[in-house]
Amino acid sequence: MNKILLVTGASAGIGAATARGAATHGFDVVVNYNSDRAGADAVAADVRAAGARAHVLQADVSDPEQIAAMFADIDAEFGRLDALVNNAGIVDQAAKVTDLTHGRLRRMFDINVIGAILVAKEAVLRMQAQGDGGAIVNISSVAARLGSANQYVDYAASKAAIDVFTKGLADEVATQNIRVNSVRPGLIETGIHAKGGEPERAQRLAHMVPMQRTGSPEEVADGILYLLSDQASYVTGTVLEVSGGR
Ligand code: NAP
Repeated sequence: MNKILLVTGASAGIGAATARGAATHGFDVVVNYNSDRAGADAVAADVRAAGARAHVLQADVSDPEQIAAMFADIDAEFGRLDALVNNAGIVDQAAKVTDLTHGRLRRMFDINVIGAILVAKEAVLRMQAQGDGGAIVNISSVAARLGSANQYVDYAASKAAIDVFTKGLADEVATQNIRVNSVRPGLIETGIHAKGGEPERAQRLAHMVPMQRTGSPEEVADGILYLLSDQASYVTGTVLEVSGGR
């Protein structure tokens, strides 16, 4: 029987590639999205075509009430949750720290950090009640290590918070065989760069990557699927970089 996986932000990019890949790796998939219903429906159709169940759920992870409603829906539909990919995230326009506003910081941290922590909390509660372990992968970024000066230091700080959260939560739940890891993508070809106002960003910076190219969402998904799998049964509290060496 398939395990049940929730992927937040699965309507596009890395989340969509992860949901599609999970369907051929023993998972039924809850496809969460915020605004892109068509994207989520297309991913769900591909998951079903691969022979797995897909359940599309709208929820803005920056809203605690919408997170609660999403988990109530998962409880009703599947009655359990085995795995979580905490992927929903945003960047913003390139800006210096001296240009950051309180509103921008609230949005960045509400989605990238507080939302991710609250989603993980709800997932852990269910995994603990089930009593047979689980796996969580939080999506960080190499920005957490690089700092993203003159681009989005706030985004980098939000991802560094995710890495520390990963370590702390992993230690808290290790005895229950709930494994918690981070993946740090590098320059990946998704729509996130256009949403930050610079569609060509990944291509423009590709020369800084030791492998001299950008990565695909599927290459990141492969790392995520490894960490979710039983092949990673002794891997917890760690960070996997999928960044071409950057
Ligand atoms: P993307 O193509 O822009 O996709 C982002 C996904 O997150 C979409 O499905 C979007 O849903 C969802 N999302 C955004 N805000 C949300 C919210 N408030 N509630 C629920 N879902 C929300 O981005 P991506 O490049 O795949 O990024 C995925 C993750 O990888 C992010 O955490 C990002 O920081 C990280 N990352 C990306 C790169 C890169 O180069 N692409 C590098 C390092 C890290 P809707 O469209 O339906 O609103």
